[in-house]
Amino acid sequence: MQEIQITRTAQPKEKPADESKLGFGNIFTDHMFIMEYHEGQGWHAPRIEPYHPIALEPSAMVFHYAQEMFEGMKAYHTEDGRVLLFRPERNIARAANTCERLCIPPVPQEDFMNALKTLISVDKDWIPTQPGTSLYIRPFIIATDSHLGVHPSHSYLFMIILSPSGAYYAGGLDPVKIWIEDDYVRAVRGGIGEAKAGGNYAASLKAQVKGEKEGYAQVLWLDGVERRYIEEVGSMNIFFKIGGKVVTPALNGSILPGVTRATCLDLCRAWGMDAEERRVSVEELVAAARDGSLEECWGSGTAAVISPVGTLRYGDEVMEIAGGGIGPVSQKLYDTVTGIQTGKFPDEFGWTVEVK
Ligand SMILES: *Cc1c(COP(=O)(O)O)cnc(C)c1O
Repeated sequence: MQEIQITRTAQPKEKPADESKLGFGNIFTDHMFIMEYHEGQGWHAPRIEPYHPIALEPSAMVFHYAQEMFEGMKAYHTEDGRVLLFRPERNIARAANTCERLCIPPVPQEDFMNALKTLISVDKDWIPTQPGTSLYIRPFIIATDSHLGVHPSHSYLFMIILSPSGAYYAGGLDPVKIWIEDDYVRAVRGGIGEAKAGGNYAASLKAQVKGEKEGYAQVLWLDGVERRYIEEVGSMNIFFKIGGKVVTPALNGSILPGVTRATCLDLCRAWGMDAEERRVSVEELVAAARDGSLEECWGSGTAAVISPVGTLRYGDEVMEIAGGGIGPVSQKLYDTVTGIQTGKFPDEFGWTVEVK
C-alpha cells in the first residue's frame, strides 16, 4: 500500500450552518484525494490536498471520448459519534469492473480503501449529523492524455471528492412517479450499461427531460433491443412485489449492479421471502397492475436508499401502486438499511466499516 501525503488547507471553508438546506451535491469539503497514473509507473503519488480546480489540456482525452468512470457511496454519522461506510468493498470491486470495461487501469483495492478512509478522516468534521443526512463520496477517474486519436489513454487521474448531503426525504419516505420510456434506450447488452460511467448518463438526459416535462420524477428504462423488458431507473435499480414475491430484473449485461440492489435481495431472502432475479416484461407489469397483484414497487440506490414508486406510466396506462403510497416491504427495507448504515440496528451481516 502506498503512503498518502497530506497537505491540510490553511483556509478552512465555513461549514454549512443549516443541515436542512444541504440538498445534494452542492457543496464540497475542504480536501480532495488525487492520484496519478502514467504508463510504466502505474498508479502513484497519492495525496490529499485542499479542494481545488484542476488544469487539463483542452485536448485531454476525457473531453472527447468520455473515458471516465465513477463511483458513489456514503459515510454516515452514528448517534454515538462513530463514522461508518456501508459495504465499501462492493464499490471498490465494481470500480475495478468498470475500469476493466473502459480500458482504465484499476486502482489497487487496498489503495482505494485507504484513500477513502484517510480522506473521510481528514474531513470528518464535515459529516452532517441530523437524521437522514450523510457525506456523499464521489470517486472518479479521467483519461488525461493530450491526444485526439481514439485509443485508451496512457495517463489518468483518480480523484475523490466529498459532499455533505441533506436528508433525501425531508418529511419521511415519499412515493415517486415514474415514466416508462419506450422510445429512447439507455444501454444494450455488450455496451457499457453495467459499468458506472458518465457516458451512460449523457445518453439518459434526453428521456429524463421528456419524463420531467410530463410530470414524472424519473425514467424507467426498457431493454435496448425489444423495448419490452424492464431494466432500471435513472440512478436506481428497480424492484416489484408481484403476487407475494419480490422480483427484480436479472443482471443481464446492460443493468448496473447496485450495492443497494444486492442489499435488498440479501435482506428479503434473510426474511424468508421469495426474491427472484429474472426477466420482467412491461406486459407482465401492466397485467399485474390491472388484476391487483402488483403490490409494491420501489427503486434502490445509494442516494435515496429506497424510493417507493406510487405511480408507473406506460403509454396511456397509468398504474397506481400500493394506493399511490408506501408498501410494507419498501418501508421495512428503508428502515432496516438506514438503521444498519447509521448504527441504530445491529450489523448482523458485517456490512459496515468504521472510519477512525
Ligand atoms: C449507481 C447506480 C445505481 C445504484 O447503485 P448503488 O450501488 O445501489 O448506489 C443504479 N443504476 C445506475 C445507472 C447507477 O449509476
